[in-house]
Amino acid sequence: MLYGAIEAGGTKFVCAVGTKDLEVIERIQIPTTTPIETMNNVIDFFKKHQEQLAAIGIGSFGPIDIHPNSATYGYITSTPKKAWQNFDFIGYLNKNLKELPIVFTTDVNAAAYGEYVAGNGKGRSTIVYYTIGTGIGGGALQNGTFVEGFSHPEMGHMLVRRHPVDTFKGVCPYHSDCLEGMASGPAIEQRTGMKGQELSVADPSWELEAYYIAQCVYNTTLLFSPDVIIFGGGVMKQAHLRERVQEALVGLMNHYVDYPAFENYVLPPKLGDDAGIIGCLALALEKSEKDIF
Ligand code: ADP
Ligand code: ZN
Repeated sequence: MLYGAIEAGGTKFVCAVGTKDLEVIERIQIPTTTPIETMNNVIDFFKKHQEQLAAIGIGSFGPIDIHPNSATYGYITSTPKKAWQNFDFIGYLNKNLKELPIVFTTDVNAAAYGEYVAGNGKGRSTIVYYTIGTGIGGGALQNGTFVEGFSHPEMGHMLVRRHPVDTFKGVCPYHSDCLEGMASGPAIEQRTGMKGQELSVADPSWELEAYYIAQCVYNTTLLFSPDVIIFGGGVMKQAHLRERVQEALVGLMNHYVDYPAFENYVLPPKLGDDAGIIGCLALALEKSEKDIF
């Protein structure tokens, strides 16, 4: 048997098939254009493996409808990406492939799951995963179950306290200066006029970036008391941010709670950019086992 994985991102889709040992045997990348064009490439990829496929795990950009009893279950809902608004993701797969068990969750939940089964969250009971890239998103897992209620969390839009010297208005179309508005890749670019990857390590804006990420760690610590907080995404490739975040966090926390030593607590994804795809495979595997037993 094989298991399918779809990491559906705002700029690219990654599709993979893998084994029960979570070994990827084939993968492709597809640019995210229109739903029909992108999804037809997805379908073509899985069609080749259709006979062996046991289930598919999907980690999608969102917001998405994750409630199986809802009329719009399996849809991408109110995304700012107009062409994808109210797109019936699961319905489209079911129509064009044989009907398979499908797990539908957010991109960050899938990455959290990958780290939980095979990365820096392995053996831990409560983990939170963030990505800091084009957007900011977060997902939390407790004993293998995603934290969710009426919907999935939208942690990337938590409110943050503005740094006293930061006059940037923020890029979030809904809240201006939420965490995503102040600390995402596009926020860095608009604040400084340069992409994060082009910015000097000595640029003073990294202090602002670290201050906002430290607030994210602070809030996450007080809300979940997790065992680990994992930060992925392009912006976190700036290794110098860690030390700055650690320093800012000490100031914000002001000894209010004891938390694990920073070097064991705030971690990069052990699976790197594969956290999401491995997580999707693991979710598919688990779903197919659940449906059999
Ligand atoms: P996406 O969020 O689209 O899946 P990424 O996580 O790579 O992809 O995020 C892209 C954003 O991260 C862009 O705004 C880019 O400028 C920024 N970025 C990518 N690499 C780096 C880097 N090495 N340092 C700082 N910022 C980066
Ligand atoms: Zn926002």
